[in-house]
Amino acid sequence: MSNRPGAQQQLLSPRLNKWQAKSLLNQVRLKAGQVREHLGQPPVFMEVCGTHTAAIAHSGLRTLLTGLVEFRSGPGCPVCVTPREDVDYALALAQLPNITIATFGDLLRVPGSLSSLEKERARGAQVEIIYSPAQALQLAAAQPKQEVVLIAVGFETTAPLVALTLLVARQKKQANFSILSLHKLIPPALRTLLALPKHPIDGLLLPGHVATIIGCHPFDFLAQDYQLPAAVTGFEPVDILLGLYSLLQNLLDNDPRITNMYPRAVTKDGNARAQRVLKECFQVTTANWRALGKIPVSGLALSKQWQDYDAAHKFPLSVTSLPDPPDCACSHVLQGLLNPPDCPLYGQTCTPRQPVGPCMVSSEGACAAYFRYQRYDS
Ligand code: SF4
Repeated sequence: MSNRPGAQQQLLSPRLNKWQAKSLLNQVRLKAGQVREHLGQPPVFMEVCGTHTAAIAHSGLRTLLTGLVEFRSGPGCPVCVTPREDVDYALALAQLPNITIATFGDLLRVPGSLSSLEKERARGAQVEIIYSPAQALQLAAAQPKQEVVLIAVGFETTAPLVALTLLVARQKKQANFSILSLHKLIPPALRTLLALPKHPIDGLLLPGHVATIIGCHPFDFLAQDYQLPAAVTGFEPVDILLGLYSLLQNLLDNDPRITNMYPRAVTKDGNARAQRVLKECFQVTTANWRALGKIPVSGLALSKQWQDYDAAHKFPLSVTSLPDPPDCACSHVLQGLLNPPDCPLYGQTCTPRQPVGPCMVSSEGACAAYFRYQRYDS
């Protein structure tokens, strides 16, 4: 891991005026042209995180760099990688008497095998949208006769907040509150993805918020084992340009390394306090990922000491899920093998109004971002 010295170091703050930002864009375009010449084709960069996917689409960077850089979305949109089986489990929970499901809004419309939480809510199930885990705990306090189950999706970024909420729940002896932990860990998913045959990736933009918690160090394997450059970046367009500049320079130098382009938030070892609270409540486990399958040590389950708050332990249910609809290309999109318009359902039977797959539901999903911002690009 390194912070590049010299002139580039001065660019590490995203507080650039519009002329400086334009100059940075021009530098990236110039560098990308050199890399394209060197590789014989535009480099393919994966933005791992759904927040980056949305920011790249929203800022127009994909269009500004057409022909110079090809972006592929990765497995970093939390609801997109939640497999159908887990959505079906949440739907089965919603059918039980005296249960209130607390969920972030993105998950509401993700299709399960036969329904969605949104449809079940319309049929009378108790499903509440929350904006923070603490809100779910407040719901439990306000509805003592209901069991409030928080459907906890997300990565290393959101899990500490859920852990803190658990600590408060225990302190307050809130017994009618539980968590269905579907939390996932990014580094093992990247290992699985890069082991796939024919992955097309030349470099990765890594999620700054995940690295804020775990640090840069857990991503070292990308350079060491796969000889790929990667840049930890923030979420402003200028942050992303800085990350791209770093990737391009590393490719030109043939010097794969993990570069921290978000030093105002990220350190080598991350946030020790957040890591401690995670260890207090969770244990690392095998997790089931849409598109990637079951990956060892890639999920967070509540540890034994927290079984009283573990919805999977309190309400063991067996669900049978149907396969994904024919022609749905979500798996290939999440593996970075296809772009959304390559899916035969894109914009036809699958739209944000009538999503067939989760990538069209979430604002962080690749298909939704394409549909919203790049539908009319030629
Ligand atoms: Fe999945 Fe729909 Fe995207 Fe196709 S267009 S990959 S079905 S979300």
